[in-house]
Amino acid sequence: MTKVEDHIRTIADFPHEGIMFRDVTTLFADPRGFRMAIDQLLHPYAGLRFDKVVGLEARGFILGGAVAHQLSAGFVPVRKKGKLPGRVISESYTLEYGEAVVEVHDDALQPGEKVLIVDDLLATGGTAEAGIKLCERLGAEIIGCAFIVDLPDLGGRKRLEALGMEVHALCA
Ligand code: 5GP
Repeated sequence: MTKVEDHIRTIADFPHEGIMFRDVTTLFADPRGFRMAIDQLLHPYAGLRFDKVVGLEARGFILGGAVAHQLSAGFVPVRKKGKLPGRVISESYTLEYGEAVVEVHDDALQPGEKVLIVDDLLATGGTAEAGIKLCERLGAEIIGCAFIVDLPDLGGRKRLEALGMEVHALCA
């Protein structure tokens, strides 16, 4: 039987020279691989009830929609600045070069709602931390953060665990 990581390819020098980009589109395109990834993302949360799955743009939308369907939960997108049509709250975070801003609709989560945060890959943890802060500002209770890939050398897991988060990843 194949493993999730067998379906992920690495592309050199994308988006910049020196970056080894983990391309999960090959995983998403494989019927068995995609199902396996969703099943494994859900594994630690069996029997738990979630109100919302929060997906981080953009590959977190693809995963988050499928995960939300399986959990019978709603789906909430955290998007890059300027993409959401309604009233938003924003969080900025530092990138290697410069700064990025992510947003969520200010009525997308209600206080006390149980949330699972989903994205394809955890690197420095900056994106996920910004998503966590948005959820917490709306009063949601984050039950877990689930990723396909964790790149442990970049420190994201430690960063999220230091915030009290439970981190689940399928491969490194
Ligand atoms: P971080 O904020 O943890 O440093 O970076 C994670 C974010 O950047 C995620 O939203 C993820 O989609 C994206 N990302 C960074 N590097 C890669 C990569 O090698 N492959 C993929 N698929 N996404 C990446």
